[in-house]
Amino acid sequence: MTQGIDSGKPAPSATATKPTMGGLTHSEARARGQEAARSRNAALKSKLPKRSMDLVDGVPTLYQGRLMKALLGELSAKAAIRAHCEQCVGWEDTKPRVGGCTTYACALHAYRPYQEKP
Ligand code: SF4
Repeated sequence: MTQGIDSGKPAPSATATKPTMGGLTHSEARARGQEAARSRNAALKSKLPKRSMDLVDGVPTLYQGRLMKALLGELSAKAAIRAHCEQCVGWEDTKPRVGGCTTYACALHAYRPYQEKP
């Protein structure tokens, strides 16, 4: 007997192969999403000036698309502030760090994302 059957819950490997709404497994859907993001990022990168490419290459893949759009002027002001704050905290643990930012002298402080509502 496997652990999944004994506990009444599906084994972890069973959830990986369980079809999603689109008929894909979760891992297939994630792989497709990552491939689509790589394709979008490549298209954005081709528009960037050379001086910006080194900057983008040093950023985690998850944030590259938003940063490139910001550099190209393709984001709203709100989304550009979000990208700036994510960059400010080093692209790590962004939600709590930006939301909990205590740099009250920053001109963007009142506009930063992830703030707790009073
Ligand atoms: S609000 Fe905070 S996280 Fe955002 S740019 Fe200013 S100092 Fe950085």
